[in-house]
Amino acid sequence: MKTAPDPLPIVRGEGAYLITEDGRRILDGISSWWVNVHGHCNPRVGRALAEQAGRLEHVMFAGCTHPPAVELAERLVSCLPPGLTRVFYSDNGSTAVEVALKMAYQFWTNRGEPQRRTFLALEHAYHGDTVGAMSASHDSLFTSSYAPLLFRVERIPVPDDYLASMDPARDGTATDPLDTIESLLERRNSEIAAVIIEPMLQAAGGMFVWKPEFLRRLKGICDEFGLPLIADEVMTGFGRTGPMFACEHGPVEPDLICLSKGLTCGYLPLAVTVTSDRIYNAFFSDDRRKTFFHGHSFTANPLGCAVGLAGLDIFAEDRVLERIAAIESKMRTRLEKFVGLDCVRDVRQIGDVGIVEFETGGEGYLSELGPWMGAEFLKRDLLLRPNGDLLYFMPPYVITDEEIDWVFDQIEDVMHSLMQDRA
Ligand code: PLP
Repeated sequence: MKTAPDPLPIVRGEGAYLITEDGRRILDGISSWWVNVHGHCNPRVGRALAEQAGRLEHVMFAGCTHPPAVELAERLVSCLPPGLTRVFYSDNGSTAVEVALKMAYQFWTNRGEPQRRTFLALEHAYHGDTVGAMSASHDSLFTSSYAPLLFRVERIPVPDDYLASMDPARDGTATDPLDTIESLLERRNSEIAAVIIEPMLQAAGGMFVWKPEFLRRLKGICDEFGLPLIADEVMTGFGRTGPMFACEHGPVEPDLICLSKGLTCGYLPLAVTVTSDRIYNAFFSDDRRKTFFHGHSFTANPLGCAVGLAGLDIFAEDRVLERIAAIESKMRTRLEKFVGLDCVRDVRQIGDVGIVEFETGGEGYLSELGPWMGAEFLKRDLLLRPNGDLLYFMPPYVITDEEIDWVFDQIEDVMHSLMQDRA
């Protein structure tokens, strides 16, 4: 099997396509690492960016403020799950998670409970590459080199019963393994700061799709024990799983939510951590030691906020959530054909994300299948980047039905070669 080729020299973007320096039009089937929502070089987003660049490119966000940051905060609060009212800006997904972890911990110290410093996080989690985000992420190839630097978290399993598959034969039994978490909390609640999750779709750690019951049940347990729930929607936010935010599948209202990627339509690095009044009020004090001391040079960058606002306008004006529902059902009809194939272990889908897990003998991320398939797709002018034995398709929402069919024709073609290779 051949490995992936050299990096692609991309000189232009246009809708769902990336254009190489030698003029190839390559369909971006993974939304450029899941950030692009309204297509590359969307003219409306580009105009908003240019207009803002002519007014104010940047100003520090300490002691200063500016209209795009205020307006974006207000707009986000109006479309987020109720109860999320206070917006804190940073500049990428990992920092949004760092902010949430630090806030949750300081929430308790400000309230006189500094012993609450253990986080509950899920098996297969991925929350980013900074030290706190890596600590909350599952131990893996990506974190093992830094293990001595990471803080310990309690790991919650995601029971099979709560995982969704398109194969009815894989449906679990209706037991309730979350009882084990309850019993842990009954013994150790006074040490726990918060629970952090990627709601409904655990992406980089294995593309696991949940049934909404898991989200609801976990939130119920957090409420029972008074624990803040942190929803890391860096990847799932802005329609990726169907509704605007994955928490709506519950529906549940988290205490903190982390957003980035689609927040700026994939144009510029920007992030927010949005919290409830309950969290905010623990910091609102004349005692300056209770301040949340966290600020990045590019916090609330005006250009990022302006494209964020343009992106929200497009969601409303073009009824993008309806288009995502149509993409979901179009994709489903093609994905269903893969269920039960010999080379396929599982097929699952949520919103605009279709996932095929291949049988590879348990090599997971290090399976050579991923780079081989990636290279095969590229030969066909399709950019997909399988994670080892996991192939996923997650296009920008401007993709057409014809383009979806074309993508699945390419996937079937490559699967056919794979099956022939294995025969
Ligand atoms: N959280 C989740 C759920 C992610 O999927 C990612 C990135 O893929 C991150 C956090 C980190 O985001 P960033 O790469 O912008 O730091």
